[in-house]
Amino acid sequence: MAVLVTGGAGYIGSHAVAALLEKGEEVVVVDNLQQGHREAVTGGRLYEGDLRDEELLDRIFRENEIDSVIHFAANSLVGESMKLPGKYYHNNVYGTLCLLEAMNRAGVKRIVFSSTAATYGEPESVPIRETDRTEPTNAYGETKLAMEKMIRWFETAHEFRYVSLRYFNAAGAHESGKIGEDHDPETHLIPIVLQAALGQRPHVSVFGEDYPTEDGSCVRDYIHVSDLADAHILAVERLRRGEASAVYNLGNGQGFSVKQVIDIARRVTGRDIPAVIEPRRSGDPAVLIAASDKARAELGWNPRRSELEAIIASAWGWHRARPQGYRG
Ligand code: UDP
Repeated sequence: MAVLVTGGAGYIGSHAVAALLEKGEEVVVVDNLQQGHREAVTGGRLYEGDLRDEELLDRIFRENEIDSVIHFAANSLVGESMKLPGKYYHNNVYGTLCLLEAMNRAGVKRIVFSSTAATYGEPESVPIRETDRTEPTNAYGETKLAMEKMIRWFETAHEFRYVSLRYFNAAGAHESGKIGEDHDPETHLIPIVLQAALGQRPHVSVFGEDYPTEDGSCVRDYIHVSDLADAHILAVERLRRGEASAVYNLGNGQGFSVKQVIDIARRVTGRDIPAVIEPRRSGDPAVLIAASDKARAELGWNPRRSELEAIIASAWGWHRARPQGYRG
């Protein structure tokens, strides 16, 4: 049986595809290649197309023996979502609706969902637990929460089973050096910091120095992308065992401010990385740190690349080897 990976040519999706292939799984990928890269798909069968294309989805389910779906395909930029919420509702929410309906038509009812810490919004308390209030502060998080809820209603009505994985901040690259992070335009902190280290940008902008944190910049919990990928495999295995639907946070449980990330990157790269303080970016909560003991206990998840220095070193390896990303 095959696993269908939507958005499998994207950053986290491609690392999950690699991890599935390493496990000997049969993999089918669907990606519209809006953000994804053909070269990031290291094996399996790739369908180029959009989830909102119902005929394509029916064809994929007809042509392959799929027993589970891992759903990554979505737009995922906080800043952009505040300017173009309609784009997020259309691609993320309506795209997920099309996927769930196609799954239902095909009788495929197991789904691992790529969710996010952005579903919580400004946390009630830190570290964040899965039972905490979900009140997104940006349109991106709001659409992801809507997608999670939609999946739950498909469980109630159509006996779907899901695992929703709420990631904190993904970073780093695959140890093979073949895949890594490459967005255009790049908006994520760690790749931007490393582009500045390479001299591709004059400086890093620190978005806000007046947050209620120790140094005034936002605090995030950075997790290695391959540790995230491993969690997806454990989630598929959980669903195949017939266990109950569940929501899990995935993070390291340790927070680093934007300024700390830049300092660590200076140490790791040995390069001078100029930083300039700028106004806050709209939609950003001050602090996002995960409590992930539930994923460890129930999924048996064990992140193995937890040190931020090692995560940044892994990302640095990719950026130095492929300064133009997949174009290089
Ligand atoms: N950030 C920043 N400068 C940048 C990019 C990001 O200060 O050039 C901050 C951003 O405001 C947030 C943190 O870094 O507080 C992580 O942002 P990113 O976009 O990497 O991930 P997000 O938390 O939005 O998923």
